[in-house]
Amino acid sequence: MYLECIKVRVNLNKEKELKSFLDGVFNNLEQYGGLVRFEFYKNSLVPLDYIIHLYWKEDINITLGSPLSYYIIEGLQRIGLINHTMWVEETTIGDMEYNKGDTSEDTKNYPDFKNNVNKEETMAKKDEIKDMPNKITRRGFLKAGVSAGMLAAATGLALDLTKKDAEAAAKTLPKKWDEEIDVVVVGSGFAGLAAASEAGKRGAKVVILEKMPTYGGNSIINGGVYAAWDSKLHLRQKLNLGNDSPKQHFDDTLKGGDYYNIPVLVKNLTEGSADALNWMIEEGGCKLREALTRAGGHSAYRTHTVAEGVGRGFTEPLRKIAEKYGAKIRLNNEITWIWRKDTEGPILGVEVKTPKGKRNIKIKKALVLASGGFSRDIKMRQAFNPSVVPEYNSTNHPGATGECIRFAQAIGADTLHMAFIQLYPFAEPETGILDNPAVYPFNGVGYGLIYVDKNGKRFVNELERRDVCSMAQIKLGQKPTYSIFNEEMVTKMGGTMEEIEKGIAKGRFIKANTIEELAQKLKMPVNNLVETVKKHNQYLKDGKDPDFNKPITKAMIPLEKGPFYAVAQWPAVHHTMGGIRINEKAQVIDIWGKVIPKFYAAGEVTGGVHGSNRLGSNAIPDCVVHGRIAGINAAQEKA
Ligand SMILES: Cc1cc2nc3c(=O)[nH]c(=O)nc-3n(C[C@H](O)[C@H](O)[C@H](O)COP(=O)(O)OP(=O)(O)OC[C@H]3O[C@@H](n4cnc5c(N)ncnc54)[C@H](O)[C@@H]3O)c2cc1C
Repeated sequence: MYLECIKVRVNLNKEKELKSFLDGVFNNLEQYGGLVRFEFYKNSLVPLDYIIHLYWKEDINITLGSPLSYYIIEGLQRIGLINHTMWVEETTIGDMEYNKGDTSEDTKNYPDFKNNVNKEETMAKKDEIKDMPNKITRRGFLKAGVSAGMLAAATGLALDLTKKDAEAAAKTLPKKWDEEIDVVVVGSGFAGLAAASEAGKRGAKVVILEKMPTYGGNSIINGGVYAAWDSKLHLRQKLNLGNDSPKQHFDDTLKGGDYYNIPVLVKNLTEGSADALNWMIEEGGCKLREALTRAGGHSAYRTHTVAEGVGRGFTEPLRKIAEKYGAKIRLNNEITWIWRKDTEGPILGVEVKTPKGKRNIKIKKALVLASGGFSRDIKMRQAFNPSVVPEYNSTNHPGATGECIRFAQAIGADTLHMAFIQLYPFAEPETGILDNPAVYPFNGVGYGLIYVDKNGKRFVNELERRDVCSMAQIKLGQKPTYSIFNEEMVTKMGGTMEEIEKGIAKGRFIKANTIEELAQKLKMPVNNLVETVKKHNQYLKDGKDPDFNKPITKAMIPLEKGPFYAVAQWPAVHHTMGGIRINEKAQVIDIWGKVIPKFYAAGEVTGGVHGSNRLGSNAIPDCVVHGRIAGINAAQEKA
């Protein structure tokens, strides 16, 4: 017997619509012969959660999903309820102790049920509900998160394991190819563009396939901050901001990731980041601001800001380099499958959905997967980390979904760290957007910017990692929190007064001449904020923060001179640290630990570089460095 569960979170005005929709479901039950029981009730612990239980008599095909559950989910989406989790629990007739305490007639006679559908709206009677997440079976996870991809992975589709398997497989290798290309790169962000540049430079014919109508993915909208211990501009030395080294950056990155990181990949990042930055400056014409910041989790001033103050300042130079070496970007080209004949053989090609229909491209040298993370894939997030609930906003572009990871899994690729999902603590509180003002809280902490809650009190060491800052905010239980800084800090932290003016016009930055006035504008207890600032100013003078033990540096400026500014901030889903397993050459590793021939991956689609928590400004160097490595090696493959 299978128990299929759907948890729906509704706000109160949708509750009525949900009930009336479910009434409609009851009226249509005849077509779902295997269903023996249906329950609908409220979770007593989380008042906005409704639980829908479906009890099936037969062993249902969970790989395909039960038609009714999908019917319900589609219906929920139609009435605008997208916040739901679905899981499957395997039960047997003998498992009825699960329903202990349930006095309903139907439940007592459970094994005898046949098409006997019961609608229950009894509220809050099953304490077991609170334990439900712990009972989620692995099969349930697969179903909930990655139904289509896992169908493929579970059945070995497109893998010609044996003749019999091949015949059984729903997805068989194409009989003819529409086109042949040396190196196919999937994704037009930092990693894809860097890979295409290096492969093109080495004479390979390169095509970048991008599913969205515009190029750049998360990279083009990113905050434009890049961690490197040095660059040809030597800003740290010039601005007299202390010491740094690749080793120090390596140590910080490992520590920031709780030592889950794969050290050789971290070594690639920290030893290659300065060279990659110089490459973008020299070959792509990339420009940096004359500023260097120390960001959360970093022990040195090493975060560079691109002149444009947004990721486009890096993607445009990379696009220029890639196109100079002949790479072509094809927009609206979505990868829908990766072709591989068997578990020993190389990647053969990709299936692509194009505006003109489906095409199969034969790959002569190699495939480079640079399709980014899955922060916008709510089902996949839920499957790997249910605590990152659907209610969170996300900073990411809409195309940050994980289908390519599933395609790679289906042909044998290993994955790791999939549950490590990062929140960005400083996103715009209502939308989750990481706009230009949302970068200030990240960049300003090394210069004395502070975070305060709605009561005007500090709540965390501002130099802490993102996961620590986010958790401290969530634990406050009141939204939003604010960053407070003054004008003196702006250029030092890589900002500009033009950005400040724009942020004020948008209502994002709040400006005041005194701390009292700022508190009034933020509707905060004035005395609290004044006291907080006074204490913090004293800590900077003393070189010690007894409240949160923040390391105080000489570069930090006390909040004494106005004008002062505030910006509201709240966590939003930002980065998925997990992904496809690669080695130091960016080759994709299979589930047996072997290299999959002619298959490379780089950027956020990979796992293992950042461990449990990515340090801010480490993603761009990760993507560019590993993208370059993938491109260089892909071009050297035999056609
Ligand atoms: C708002 C924001 C700000 C950030 N700021 C910073 C920062 O300042 N510094 C820093 O270091 N990091 C930052 N990050 C993180 C960093 O930007 C990302 O980790 C990085 O851009 C990922 O690059 P990528 O090349 O791996 O993927 P992306 O840039 O996301 O590119 C992947 C591309 O693949 C495409 N794709 C996906 N699936 C398919 C498919 N099936 N077929 C074809 N194409 C597909 C996507 O549409 C996308 O365009 C930020 C992230 C966000 C969201």
